[in-house]
Amino acid sequence: MNRSILLLYTGGTIGMKTNPETGVLSPFKFDQIEQEVPELKKFNISLNTLTFNPPIDSANVTPELWCKIAHVIRDNYDAYDGFVVLHGTDTMSYSASALSFMTENLSKPIIFTGSQIPIGVLRTDGKENLITAIEIAAAQENGRPVVPEVCVYFQNKLFRANRTRKHNADQFNAFRSDNYPALADVGISIQYNYPCIRHIDSFMPPFNISTNLDRNVIVIKIFPGMNPEVFRAMLSIPGLRAAVLETYGSGNAPTDEWFIDYLEEAIARGVIVMNVTQCHAGTVAMDRYETGIRLQNIGVVSGRDITTESAITKLMYLLGQNLSPVKMSEYLNRPIRGEITV
Ligand code: ASP
Repeated sequence: MNRSILLLYTGGTIGMKTNPETGVLSPFKFDQIEQEVPELKKFNISLNTLTFNPPIDSANVTPELWCKIAHVIRDNYDAYDGFVVLHGTDTMSYSASALSFMTENLSKPIIFTGSQIPIGVLRTDGKENLITAIEIAAAQENGRPVVPEVCVYFQNKLFRANRTRKHNADQFNAFRSDNYPALADVGISIQYNYPCIRHIDSFMPPFNISTNLDRNVIVIKIFPGMNPEVFRAMLSIPGLRAAVLETYGSGNAPTDEWFIDYLEEAIARGVIVMNVTQCHAGTVAMDRYETGIRLQNIGVVSGRDITTESAITKLMYLLGQNLSPVKMSEYLNRPIRGEITV
C-alpha cells in the first residue's frame, strides 16, 4: 500500500532558488517541489505539501510557529503515515525540540530537515536531505513506523530532535547529538539503530498536542568577570519563572557569596533554576566539586546532559501545564521525551 507523507515547508534555505535576473536567493513555490526535485516522482509515496505563508528565515521563528506546526500535524494526523518539516537550520534544534515536547502520545515520525545550500543550486545538500527524510518518515516494519518520534535528519544522520544542536555554520554536517547516539546512519542503506529508537506500546492513548507554552524563561551563560548587578537584574526580571544556567564543565559555578545569594533569592521566589553545562558533550554532576555542591544545596535542578535548546523548550512546555510543585520536580528530573540520560 502507498504510504502518505505530509511535507510542511516553513522556510529556510532549502526552499530557495537563485533568481536568474537578480542573482539573489528567494523562496520558490514549494508546491512545485516536484519540478525542482523530479526524483520525488519515483517514490511510491503519496506526497502532499503545505507551504507556510510567508516562508520565513528560521532566525524569525517564535513559539507561534511551533503551535502552527503542531496544529497542522494534529489536524492531519490520521490522514498521513508521517510528517516531514522543512525548516531553516539556524533554529531547527529549538523548533524540533519544542515539537517533541508539544506532541503527546506520538506514534508517527515527524522528521525535521533543511539544507545548507538551497535546493535550486547545483551542489545542494537539500535534495538528499529531503529524499531521505521522506523515506525515513514513510518507513514501516511489521505495519508500524520505524521511528515514531520527532527527529532531525541531516547529512546522513538521523538524530533524536531534542538531543541536537546546530554546531557548524558552514559545513554540510550542521547538526550534532553529542550525548545520544544517532538513530540511523545513512549510507548505501539506512541502518537503523533500533535499541536507541523510542519504543511504543501497542496500546497508545490518543495523539494530542499541547500549545500552552510559557515564555517567561531565560538563559544565563556564566563567564569569569560577570557583573553581580547584571546577574541580579537578570534573575529579578518581573514574571520570570525559570532560568537555564549555563555553567562550566560538570555543572560548576563560582562560590562567591553574591552569586549563591542571588540564585537562592530567585529560587525562594519560585524561579526554577536549571543547571546545564556549557560543554557540548557530557553531563552536569553537581556532586563532583565543591563549586557544584553549593548549587545543589540551594535547590538548583540538574539538567544532566540536556542541551540548552531542549532545556528551554522543556521548561516552556512544563510551565504551561500548571503542574503541582511535586509533579514539576518529577518531570524536571526524568526524561519525558528521551531528552536526558538518567
Ligand atoms: N538562515 C537560514 C534559516 O535558518 C539558514 C538555513 O536555512 O540554513 O532559515
